[in-house]
Amino acid sequence: MSDLLERLRGRGWRMTAQRRVVAEVLNGDHVHLTADEVHARATAKLPEISRATVYNTLGEMVSLGEVIEVATDKRAKRYDPNAHRPHQHLVCDLCGQIRDVHPTGNPLTALPSDERFGFTISDVEVTYRGLCPNCAAKA
Ligand SMILES: [Zn+2]
Ligand SMILES: [Zn+2]
Repeated sequence: MSDLLERLRGRGWRMTAQRRVVAEVLNGDHVHLTADEVHARATAKLPEISRATVYNTLGEMVSLGEVIEVATDKRAKRYDPNAHRPHQHLVCDLCGQIRDVHPTGNPLTALPSDERFGFTISDVEVTYRGLCPNCAAKA
């Protein structure tokens, strides 16, 4: 899995201390954080970082195409550093954990032509829901 900080540096992004903290918070596999969660974690590393800086930095990373916005629930947009490998999401209904998953077959071509209404389809978003093993064991 490619490193978000390396990718941003490779894009010529000016790495300030504040930007670095936001990138560090978002770096990793299966990371899907709301802006508020990013802000809370960034504050733990850099107490003076403002919410506005976090929001602006997230917006820049999305504009660069190195972070994607995902909407797996109705509450808040989440930020996902897995921007280069197309994937869908698996969400636990109880604890809310989100995994990146890769369904077999191409979901873009899975829609029959008579269901396309003449559209040229460019993207697809599928959210699989259920219970993770921990929550299933408790339920
Ligand atoms: Zn769970
Ligand atoms: Zn994801």
